[in-house]
Amino acid sequence: MIFSEGLTTVAYIGAIILFILSLSGLSNPASSLRGNLYGMIGMAIAVIATIFGPKVTGAGIPWIIGAMVIGGGVGVFAARTVKMTQMPELVALMHSLVGLAAMLVGFASYIDPGSTASATAAEITIHHVEIYVGIFIGAITFSGSLIAFGKLSGKIGGKPLLLPGRHLLNLIALIVVIYFGYQFMHAQTVDAGLTPLIVMTVLALLFGIHMVMAIGGADMPVFVSMLNSYSGWAAAATGFMLSNNLLIVTGALVGSSGAILSYIMCQAMNRNFISVIAGGFGGGAPAPKSSTGAASGATAEPAGEVVPISAVETAELLREAKNVIIVPGYGMAVAQAQHTVYEITKLLREKGVNVRFGIHPVAGRMPGHMNVLLAEAKVPYDIVMEMDEINDDFPNTDVTMVIGANDIVNPSAQEDPTSPIAGMPVLEVWKAKTSIVMKRSMASGYAGVDNPLFYKENNRMLFGDAKKMLDEVLTALRG
Ligand code: NDP
Repeated sequence: MIFSEGLTTVAYIGAIILFILSLSGLSNPASSLRGNLYGMIGMAIAVIATIFGPKVTGAGIPWIIGAMVIGGGVGVFAARTVKMTQMPELVALMHSLVGLAAMLVGFASYIDPGSTASATAAEITIHHVEIYVGIFIGAITFSGSLIAFGKLSGKIGGKPLLLPGRHLLNLIALIVVIYFGYQFMHAQTVDAGLTPLIVMTVLALLFGIHMVMAIGGADMPVFVSMLNSYSGWAAAATGFMLSNNLLIVTGALVGSSGAILSYIMCQAMNRNFISVIAGGFGGGAPAPKSSTGAASGATAEPAGEVVPISAVETAELLREAKNVIIVPGYGMAVAQAQHTVYEITKLLREKGVNVRFGIHPVAGRMPGHMNVLLAEAKVPYDIVMEMDEINDDFPNTDVTMVIGANDIVNPSAQEDPTSPIAGMPVLEVWKAKTSIVMKRSMASGYAGVDNPLFYKENNRMLFGDAKKMLDEVLTALRG
């Protein structure tokens, strides 16, 4: 022990303040770098204070350092090799690890006789409640996040699995979990308590799988942020089991910020929490893997005339325009076209064209996906607008360029009450004089829903890889 109890507490308070500053920094693109830095410093302080604090004995340090080297090595490898388009899957996997950790800590602290050696009967009862609840949340987070990983990576279809009587099944599972909780709390020995604990864990794992399998493609963004929130609560539960205040506060920060994000995403998708958990939204189509590599994506049936356009013609339209709105989507991330997009933007702005970006809250595959890509390409923040800020401006726009986006610009959300995504707010790109959709084929997007935008009279399709086509547009513009 190098840090005394008092010094560890001071370090923890410092780390907590840095985490709060980090969260507030991350709320704005301009301050997000600073926010990240605060988070990293806070985490370094937290880890150092824990390792050298009073709870870790000298014999434990080599084990911790060994685990950190292995874990850190895996983390560095993943960070260096994972593509930007795979980030949402990586985040889902990370959430699953938090859930797994909560489960393992729960079992370990139940089996370890030292954890309650000098505790009173009341303290033991509280500790057991923490263990039961902690393992329950951890198991749901673990299995749910693994299924989310499968859905985001396209390994599992996006169509919701709606078992008959699924709400009843969930209710029965909950009653059984409560019953076994009672058995667990009244077990006289550790061995007797293990059976109800294991049964509850299996049920919670199945519940996590069932819950995410029932989610339709279009609800996945909300659910990913809900799992983020669950992972925070799982970490907080681990903090209770280990009596670690820092972990409790940090977990609560992640849990509550994730819950707020889920709420914002629900608003953006015009959904409420309960119907998201009940599942099924946006899953009308069968789910063969689309050419996007998305979780679902049936090929759209033709429903009118599709008018293709060339890169040179696109450049001409852009050159003549006064107002242009660019709407990026998942395809821009796949093609890594953001730098070329910015080159075109710069060129048009130099020519006096008013170019702005319209960002849908669920564009791409993770919250803020497009903002991250555009920031990476150094697009100024003041021309990057949220959906609500820009949606009214489409009628006064000459050209909208939709780059690898599909679901977020699908008019059937407004025009077709039977559409699986009916009611979801979308960017009204078709209201511009001309809309140009850049994608490789007629394949549908993540939600697997046909898009009537492609057949509108004022719409043109620029078929091909977004990066390749934008390079051609840029060359034509320069020429
Ligand atoms: P979509 O998945 O709806 O559409 C993306 C389109 O990009 C595809 O139709 C594809 O068409 C095209 N594309 C793929 N690769 C390329 C390429 N190399 N060049 C050009 N085009 C390409 O994406 P959106 O951004 O419009 O919508 C996001 C969807 O993802 C929503 O349904 C949302 O609910 C969901 N989602 C969002 C999450 C989030 O947090 N943001 C999380 C999970 C899901 P083609 O194959 O023809 O090229």
